[in-house]
Amino acid sequence: LPPIEGDFYHLGDEALSEEDRALQLKVRAFLEKEVKPVVNKYWLKAEFPFELIPGIAALNICGLTYEGYGCPNKSNLMEGILAMEMARVDTSMSTFFGVQSGLAMGSIYLLGSEAQKQQWLPDMQQMKTIGAFGLTEPEVGSGVAGGLTTTAKRIGSKWILNGQKKWIGNSTFSDVTIIWARDLDDQEVKGFLVRKGTTGFVVEKMEDKMALRIVQNGLITLTNCEVDEEDRLQNANSFKDTAKVLKMTRAGVAWQAVGCARGAYESALHYTRTRKQFGKPIASFQLIQNHLVEMLSNLTAMQTLCFRLSQLQDQNLLTDEHASLAKVFCSMRTRDVVSRAREVMGGNGILLEYDVARFVADAEAIYSYEGTKEINTLIVGRAITGFSAFV
Ligand code: FAD
Repeated sequence: LPPIEGDFYHLGDEALSEEDRALQLKVRAFLEKEVKPVVNKYWLKAEFPFELIPGIAALNICGLTYEGYGCPNKSNLMEGILAMEMARVDTSMSTFFGVQSGLAMGSIYLLGSEAQKQQWLPDMQQMKTIGAFGLTEPEVGSGVAGGLTTTAKRIGSKWILNGQKKWIGNSTFSDVTIIWARDLDDQEVKGFLVRKGTTGFVVEKMEDKMALRIVQNGLITLTNCEVDEEDRLQNANSFKDTAKVLKMTRAGVAWQAVGCARGAYESALHYTRTRKQFGKPIASFQLIQNHLVEMLSNLTAMQTLCFRLSQLQDQNLLTDEHASLAKVFCSMRTRDVVSRAREVMGGNGILLEYDVARFVADAEAIYSYEGTKEINTLIVGRAITGFSAFV
């Protein structure tokens, strides 16, 4: 069994079958052996480790919960645990994977026609085809539901897309990017599968990010970009359909926050046991133990919440507000855990080679994407009061 440091109440031991536990350990071993040694180098250079993709694909975890199309059809709980495992070693790699397996494949799985699923999902599952998800725009982030400005105009069997998308993860190298645009005729938001190299589709890499530096985020400009009707997501008819994808992936981001916190906690615990001051390991000091226990409390609360979240998802009972509450709570608690981890490491807490500095930076991205704290709070607030406070 893996060390229990970050799983104090043995949630993993209880909940997983032997087969799933073996998969968790296999993924963990790959991450420790292949990802951990190179991750700080890539993070610093803000480059993506393309040579790791075949190894990740060979784990056969992409599209983990989907049925058919070569996907493993495992539980949402297992998917959450693997998102945590990835983020525990590197949050950027878990984001890359989440965009591919959740946002991009999930859009096609939930909203594509049978022919579109057959066409795209098997190769995406094997990561031979890489996907991206383009919703956010330079001037419209939280307000995308009503405020999306990218347009789609149908002319015969073609659609003409115009507008810009900002922050789009994987888009600098993706083979297919799902672009969400407003239909100029019925004013509804629709999804389009835009292939790499399409005329009028230009991607510029966003430079100088201070978090998730390995994730390649793109600024996309669509200028009279032509897409065939057969590449429109056939079952995406309004933003309500887009929101179905976001509900699923938001639950994954909550788990990702757990992983980021767990990675920082484990690094800090190890450090405090070995670092000596005043002739003693710093872990023996009461004030340091207080930080460690606060971190563990937060981590355990987050894990427990996410376990229940995934159980609800597995029972088909997950609501938007369930996913939002978990995302808000975990992204806030993660900020607290990583900052305490940084604190107990003194000066070394800001050195990349000790890993925690990377977790501190990456927690900031988790905090803002897939719905900010305020937006997810308002989703929960609306559900419990019956009043929408968005506008
Ligand atoms: P804004 O919407 O401008 O918000 C600014 C502030 O105002 C926030 O604090 C917000 O909570 C607050 N605010 C807004 N409205 C209200 C309100 N009604 N009441 C109270 N407060 C409010 N997008 C994609 O489509 N695809 C991707 O792959 C993707 N990847 C990303 C990766 C990273 C690293 C990051 C940072 C972002 C990514 N995003 C992606 C975009 C992300 O989803 C947005 O950043 C997020 O939705 C917030 O939008 P914004 O940054 O424009 O902030």
